[in-house]
Amino acid sequence: MRQNKVPFLQKGRKEARKKIMDNHEVTMDKIVSLCKRRGFVYQSSEIYGGQAGAWDYGPLGVDFKRNIQNAWWKEMTQLHDDVVGLDGAIFMHHTTWEASGHVGHFSDPMIDCTECKARFRADQLIEDYCEKHGVNPGKPVDTMTHEEMKAFIDEHINCPTCGSTNRKYTDVREFNLMFKTHLGPVANDASLVYLRPETCQSIFVDFKNIVQSNRMKVPFGVAQVGKSFRNEIIFKNFIFRTCEFEQMEMEYFCKPGTEDETFERWRKDRWNFYLKYGIKEEHLKWHHHDKLAHYAKDAYDVTYKFPIGFEEIEGIHSRTDFDLSQHMQYSKKDMNYIDQDDGNKKYIPYVIETSAGLNRNFLMFLCEAYEEQNVGTDGKEDYRTVLHLDPRLAPITVAVLPLMKKDGLAEKAKEVQHILKEDYVTDYDVSGTVGKRYRRQDEVGTPFCVTIDYDTINEKKDDGSPNPDFNTVTLRFRDSMEQVRVPVEHLSERIRQEIKNYKRA
Ligand code: ATP
Repeated sequence: MRQNKVPFLQKGRKEARKKIMDNHEVTMDKIVSLCKRRGFVYQSSEIYGGQAGAWDYGPLGVDFKRNIQNAWWKEMTQLHDDVVGLDGAIFMHHTTWEASGHVGHFSDPMIDCTECKARFRADQLIEDYCEKHGVNPGKPVDTMTHEEMKAFIDEHINCPTCGSTNRKYTDVREFNLMFKTHLGPVANDASLVYLRPETCQSIFVDFKNIVQSNRMKVPFGVAQVGKSFRNEIIFKNFIFRTCEFEQMEMEYFCKPGTEDETFERWRKDRWNFYLKYGIKEEHLKWHHHDKLAHYAKDAYDVTYKFPIGFEEIEGIHSRTDFDLSQHMQYSKKDMNYIDQDDGNKKYIPYVIETSAGLNRNFLMFLCEAYEEQNVGTDGKEDYRTVLHLDPRLAPITVAVLPLMKKDGLAEKAKEVQHILKEDYVTDYDVSGTVGKRYRRQDEVGTPFCVTIDYDTINEKKDDGSPNPDFNTVTLRFRDSMEQVRVPVEHLSERIRQEIKNYKRA
């Protein structure tokens, strides 16, 4: 397998860092560099040269990812009375995937260079070429036949890997993206299992259980977060396209005939979710599917303006009654819903799906938050790297910083941290100047820093008069860098209010 290396990991640290810090735009290299440097994401199996298509989430990454997941979960289940949760198994009976159409249809078009043996996704090869050269292929790439793709590639595209201008390519073939294995000691047809390529099939398969056990009435939705696996032809752009990733999916079951209005409502809801957590509207764009999947009546993607261009973060699909009907046919179990509110009418509900990638959300929120900001005064340049993350998503909410280690300041800081810990993820940092510590917290998006100084611990001023700042701390805000003094007993509540009222400037 080809290694999915990134420039930062290959070159000398200093040289690479200097190069990427030269201009102050956000780039994928800078995000990759920050992720590794500060413990958000590491390349999987790095000491063995790295495993293509797989990444590990470090101490800050795991909290950040979980916060995004929790925000999604809250939005879908807590804020929608009619959506419940499910945590289905990754392994499902192999017939599931025949019924869903994945065994027959879940594939991408691939093409190989016969000279260097490099393999490409034919549609992406064409899209990348057209974007780079400002060429119009004549029709949407996802509606091209294999022969049309092959003809276009033969006519225009030199091999991006070996650079050969001979354009000796294989035919375009379909490549099934599902990983296959066998469960148990005997490898035969009965033990065949697939690693699920999407989480939603367990929602369909469990439809009857959910209706009966929780007395659910159509319309209702079922939300689920979990790992999915796809044997992608190529892995690209850091955690954007990987073989193992997490999806946040929701299937909303509605009465046939109401699917169009339900689709529009969910499109609006999902769009607003991204705005709510700080994505600028001009960085989002709808992409309408010209060619629909075998199950779909309509489909849109929410795309985000990554440094590599607009790319999909979530798909919203009108799936008709395809999945439930297929499972009814293959399992011979009745999947009809009996609508007691409509004269016991029997029907297979229609389905609206919202399917977001957690890892792509992670990358999007990082790109959106990243800024190299000139905070120099008197015309001097002084750049800080800051992540303007929504405080609800930031991996650390409050950092507690004693001005000095000595004179009881460290002990007081630990005491304050102990109070805050019950409510927030905290960090404690004592090394270096306070200014340097602020910068370190800015770089990982910590929205609040609390500094403990001599006023915090001294009841009296030097002249013996009472110190009005006794038992107060400095609360410093990441985005504005403003500082205010807050009594220790009000600190937790003040932070709660600040989180509630947060709006990125
Ligand atoms: P793409 O066209 O980018 O391959 P898709 O249309 O196949 O994506 P869906 O099947 O709609 O994707 O999956 C829903 C979401 O799951 C996507 O919007 C994306 O956020 C995420 N996703 C899909 N494939 C991957 C992958 N290989 N790596 C990371 N996330 C993925």
